[in-house]
Formats: sequence, C-alpha cells, structure tokens
Amino acid sequence: MSSDKDIQTTPRGFRCALCNVNLPNLASVDQHVKGRKHQTLSTVRTTRKTQEERSVFVSGITPEVSQSDLAEHFQQFGSVSDVIMDKDKGVFAIVQFAETGSIQAALSCVQHQLKGLKLRVKPREKKDFKLIPKMKDDFQNLQQLLDSLAPQLCQLGSVDAQMQYVVERFQLGENEKKARSLLVQLLQEVFVEFFPDSQILPFGSSVNSFGIHSCDLDLFLDLENTKVFQARARTASEQAVEGGASDDGRSEDSILSDIDLSAASPAEVLELVATILKRCVPSVHKVHVVSSARLPVVKFHHRELNLQGDITLNNRLAVRNTRFLQLCSGVEGRLRPLVYTVRYWAKQKQLAGNPSGAGPLLNNYALTLLIIFYLQNCEPPVLLTVEQLKDLACEEEECEIEGWNCTFPTQPIAVPPSRNSQDLCSLLAGFFSFYAKFDFASGVISPRLGRVLPVTSFLSPAREDEAAQEDRPPRPRLGPLNLLDPFELSHNVAGNLNERSHRAFQRECRDAEKYCRSLQYQRKSTRGKAWGLVRLFTPHGDAAAPQAERPCVHVPFSPAALPDALREQLHRAGDGFRLLWFHKVCSAAERVLSGVLGCELASTSYSAAGAALSQEDPEAMEEPEPAESDASPQGSPVAGAKRPPPPDGDSSDSPRGKKPRLARRRKSDSPLWLCRLRHAVWAGRRKARRELTKDADAAAGPESGCLQLEARVTAHIAAREPELKEPLEFRVRPQMLGETESSRAAFWLEPSSDRSGLFQDFFHFLEAFLPKTVERLLEEEGGAS
Ligand code: ATP
Ligand code: MG
Repeated sequence: MSSDKDIQTTPRGFRCALCNVNLPNLASVDQHVKGRKHQTLSTVRTTRKTQEERSVFVSGITPEVSQSDLAEHFQQFGSVSDVIMDKDKGVFAIVQFAETGSIQAALSCVQHQLKGLKLRVKPREKKDFKLIPKMKDDFQNLQQLLDSLAPQLCQLGSVDAQMQYVVERFQLGENEKKARSLLVQLLQEVFVEFFPDSQILPFGSSVNSFGIHSCDLDLFLDLENTKVFQARARTASEQAVEGGASDDGRSEDSILSDIDLSAASPAEVLELVATILKRCVPSVHKVHVVSSARLPVVKFHHRELNLQGDITLNNRLAVRNTRFLQLCSGVEGRLRPLVYTVRYWAKQKQLAGNPSGAGPLLNNYALTLLIIFYLQNCEPPVLLTVEQLKDLACEEEECEIEGWNCTFPTQPIAVPPSRNSQDLCSLLAGFFSFYAKFDFASGVISPRLGRVLPVTSFLSPAREDEAAQEDRPPRPRLGPLNLLDPFELSHNVAGNLNERSHRAFQRECRDAEKYCRSLQYQRKSTRGKAWGLVRLFTPHGDAAAPQAERPCVHVPFSPAALPDALREQLHRAGDGFRLLWFHKVCSAAERVLSGVLGCELASTSYSAAGAALSQEDPEAMEEPEPAESDASPQGSPVAGAKRPPPPDGDSSDSPRGKKPRLARRRKSDSPLWLCRLRHAVWAGRRKARRELTKDADAAAGPESGCLQLEARVTAHIAAREPELKEPLEFRVRPQMLGETESSRAAFWLEPSSDRSGLFQDFFHFLEAFLPKTVERLLEEEGGAS
C-alpha cells in the first residue's frame, strides 16, 4: 500500500515521489495509488526494506573468496538466506540472513577472519527506494546535470561566461564523436555489402555542431549509386545470358538480386534496411520501421553506445541543411552558445522536444532557424541571409537538390565577418525581445531572404496550371508559425506547431524578455542567489501557479482549413485580411449560437449595455489592454483587446502606458451579444446525435447536413428535456486578437444569470464546439458571407 509520504503537493497538483509521476487532482491520485505500477513498486520497496534489515555489508574480500565460503563463515551467526557478490567478484558482498536478529550477532563479532583475510562487516546503508526515471531524452538526463551545474553557473562572472559554460557541459565530447564515427564506418561497411556503391551519411545534431550528449544519430542512406550499379549489373547479366558468361561477380551474392531498387517502394527498401541492421550489425536492437513519418525512417538503438539511430532514404536536403548550419556556426562563433542556451531554455519551458520526433512543439532545427533569422535581422546583422551567402559561393560550390538552389560557400573563410559586436548576453535578450513582439500572424519568416513575407501572398488558392508557373510563390502548409526552410521553399519547418504551442512560445519569450531587463539577469548576485541563465532555465510550471483565466473561447486563424474561395478573398484583402476573416467568423459564431444551439440572441454594443452592466458589476467585462491590431467586425476597433496581463501586474515600464484609456474609449464601440438559453443543449448531445443519425435517411447527404444535423440535435434535446428552471443568460464579446499574438477571434463569455450553476458546463462545451462548428460553417459556405 502507498504511504501518504509518497504523494506530495505541487503548485500544479500532486506528485508521486515513488513512481515519479505528476497527478493533476485527487481523483487521479486515488486511481494511481490503486494502479499496477504503484502497487508493484510498493511491494518491491517493502521487500527491499526487509532485505536491508536482514543483511550486512562485507568488504575486504578477494576474488578467491567464493559465495559458499562467505555463507559458511556467516552461518555461525544465524541461518544465511543469500550471498550477493559484487559484479567484478572480489570487492564486496552482501550477506543476507533469514532472521533480523542474526545481524547483531554478526556485527558484534570483533574479528571476522576468512582464508587469512580480515573481513570488514558493516550494517547496510539504508537507501531511499526510488524509481530511477526512464529518461525520455537527452535533455531530461541533462536536467540532473543542470541541477548540479546551477551552483557553478552562479559562480561565473557574466552571462557570456555562463552561456559558454552551457556549451562546454552539454556539447558532444571527443570520445562520443569518435564512437559515432566508428559506428557510421561499421554501418557503411555492412551496407555496402548489400547495397554496392551505397553511402551512409550522418546529418543533424551529431555533425552540425549543436549536438548534446547522447543526441540521436541521424543517417541518410544514399542508394543512388546502387541503382546505377544495379542497372549496369542487369544489363551485364542480360548480355551474359545471351553470351553465356558473367563479368561481374558482385551482383551474384547481393541481396539486390531479390529487389529492384528503382521499382521498390521506400517502405520495402526500409524493411530491407531493417533486416540488415537486425541480422548483421552487432549490438543493434529495437529496430523498427516508421513509415508514417514525413520521411519514413528505420529506427534502431545501439546497446553499447546507448545511442538512438535513425536511417532515412531520400534525405539529401537534410544533409545539405546540416552543412549550412555547420557553415553558420563556423562563420559566427556566437551562434553555438546562443543555440545551446535557447534550446535548453525551450526544453525547460516545454516548447521543444517532441516525444519520439512527432508532436506539436518546435523541433531543434526550427528553433535554430529562428535564431539564425533573428541574427540576420540584428542591427548590424550578425549573419548573412542565405541568398547573400549564395552570391559568395564559387562555381564549384553550386548545388541544386530536388530543384531547390542549395548553393553556399563550403568554407567559413569565404564569408566576411560581421560588424556587429554585441555580446552574448545582449544577443540572447534580443532574441526574446524580437520574438516577443513578432507579428507571426501576418508574415512568413524567410531565412533565405532574411525578411518576413506577407502571409497574404501565400493565401490565394492553388490553380491547376500553377505548377507550370515558376514565378508563382511556393505553397507551404500554413499554420500559427510560418518558418520557411532556407532551401526547400515550399516547406514550413514549423508546420507541425499547433495554436497552443505557438502561443506558449510567444508567452515564454515575453516572460524571458521581461526577465532579461532585470538586474538579476545581467548582474551576478552578491548574496549567492540564482541569477543570469539559472533563473531563465526555471522549468515550466515551477514559477507561480497560473492565474485562473476568464472564460474565453478562441477560434484560431488557420489558413489551411479555409475554403479556397475564402482564401482568395483574404488574399485580395491584403492588409485588411484579418478584419475580413474576423467578420466572417463573427457572423458564423452568431449563427452557431442562435441557429445551431437555439440561443435567443440580441446583438448590441457595449455602450448600449453599458449602464446596466456597470450597475451589476463595473468590472464585469473589463479586459486588459488591447493589441494594436484589434478590431471589431464593424471595422471599428474592438474594446479591451485581450492580452494576458503582465504576470506581476506591473505595466509601469511599458511604453503602452496610455492603453487603459484607449481601451475604455474603444470599449463603447464594441459589439456585445446578450444570449439566453432555455435548455441544457450541451448535455447528452452525443447520444441524441447517435439516435438521429441512426434513424436518418442516408439520402439526406452527409456533408451538407453537418450543421443542420447539429441544429436538429438541439431541437431533439429541447423537445425531450424540460426547460431549465432558470434560463442561462450570458454575454459574449467577440474580439480580434493578433499581431503580437497568434491571430484568433476571442469570444469572451460572462454569465449574467446562472442560478442553476450551469455556466461552467456550458462554457467547457462551447470551448470545443464553437471553433469546430464555425470552421465547418465557413467551409460549407465557401467564400459567401
Ligand atoms: P536533435 O536530434 O538534437 O533534436 P537535430 O538537429 O538532429 O537535433 P532532428 O529532429 O534529429 O534534429 O533532425 C535532424 C535533421 O533533420 C536536422 O538537423 C535537419 O537537417 C533535418 N530536419 C529536421 N526537421 C526538419 C524539418 N522540419 N524540415 C526540414 N529538415 C528538418
Ligand atoms: Mg537529431
């Protein structure tokens, strides 16, 4: 059974110290404690404890002393149940008795002599039993390293020194690099046996100069020459059949005789690679193919080196962008400390480090490109743009991969040094400040050009004849953060990011920016307190608990989900695209509330409702200061644009000191919907929907009926369930947010009459239902308003 001391309270809930897991609430604590993991560990702990209480630690032995010698010697003090020798046999042993009482007898014996040796016998050390956490990735391992580093960082004299120290401690050691390169050599030798003339090329952090201890080993298996070899061998064997002889023995034994590489699918080739790894490479285990990844991959683990490896095919671009990162790092010495520091900061704040590579967070490559882009935009620039680098390359360095220009100089010496002389401390602060204020919504970041391209030029829908038009801009998958690959210009390297992770990134940048302005960042504490990077690296969630947020439903601006006609309209709207989109979303949301959910809805403006509202609660719909781009659907600015208040409520140092007045003025123009719901239309929707679709005539057409069906679900619930005793009355204020935050429509909710206490339930339902349904409505209507 668990004892209470295993469960600790944390700012974000609870933590089981025995199993090393966080638990959000008491219900999950209860469930966890009854679960198998906790039960097993509790039992193991009890057993260990009993064993500890019955055993002694024996040292002073030599390899000649055997287990049975020790058992025989200690038998005189009581029955011996087990003797455990150390792994190398001959340094120490643990002798376990059947009874606790025997220990005292063994310890009180003044001299233990065995085979002429004097044995030392001690009570066993009582160790706290703890599950050693299975490290999910390198930085988690490194968390422990940092815990021990924090005091050392604090002792250094400057942030620059701290950043250099982070590099020193985290970077791949010479031995690690050597071990990796030996493994690559071994793999090369094995693969070439099966795939003649093939080449295995490392890329990614093992070789791009940003690797950390035990980062993964990314490999590209280049089979182009093998295909040529295979084609030649085929021709030769056909000729041999005709002529009755063979002149190339290599194809005979090759595994390739079974598979035609030019016709095989990547999945088939990867299966083959996996088989070779399993059968022919010593120490390799856990081999498996992940064919669902953007680039299918064979994953493996090397036992001896404790190394995770990934082998991909067709990854020439990644090898090239690795060379590009190497070049940047060779040209600009300040890049490495910045990358290591920002990567670690992002990891601590849970902004980066997708589990098993896939996920909605930033990956290290994207993070590095963000740093490079920032450095291209410093004044004067620290790094040149990729386009400028291209112009410095000589003819032999020209390179094109898959139609993309990948030219840049091979040697750092070919690139003139920067005139920027900022120190690391101010560059790091500048990075946070740059992205804290960045208008992600209206721009696409291009490290190739070193500037932001307007998002509207990527919005017009693709036409069939487009592929033929080379001057058309390429079409990356747009998302909340659009960061173009420097070479593959149709690829958004941050396309995996979701709204939430993007918002978290910008919020953390704002917090970091603010911290970097404080003396604690810049100056060493004279009282030995944490300062500089140490505070910046505080793990996410360890700071003060987040304040409870006001109910607000967000509808994110996700261009990828918009119908073509609407994208075209937004494209034509140019700078006004946000406002147009917001109009559409508001009109859709209004219809979802009234037409789909059956709300009685009166549209008014804040000023019309103002008197009544302020009598009830003067701060009722009070919101923090607006962002510059906030706007109402009418085209007038919307009041109280919601930007989360500064964490400490201190805005005195903000240049936007006049904003509260502005907010008050704007508020009077803003729209406000007064809503009344007479039925709990959110309860039992799934069941009602199931019943209706079961009975529904399939001829009704699945697509056209999505929203009609939802309206029927509401009617069904209203007809079946009694009215609420007291109708639920609430106000909704739509608001456009954007520019320095990710663009989204925010719908602020406030109950005005909720005697049945149902508002929270309704809000949670609406949080998921409204964005989804608005998106569907926009889709169904295309560009029509
Ligand atoms: P680490 O393995 O330490 O997280 P890494 O730079 O090796 O860092 P990976 O995710 O392993 O990152 O990616 C390996 C390489 O693959 C990158 O260095 C880059 O060359 C390429 N790569 C990764 N993600 C992308 C992407 N989204 N778009 C284009 N290339 C990418
Ligand atoms: Mg990697």
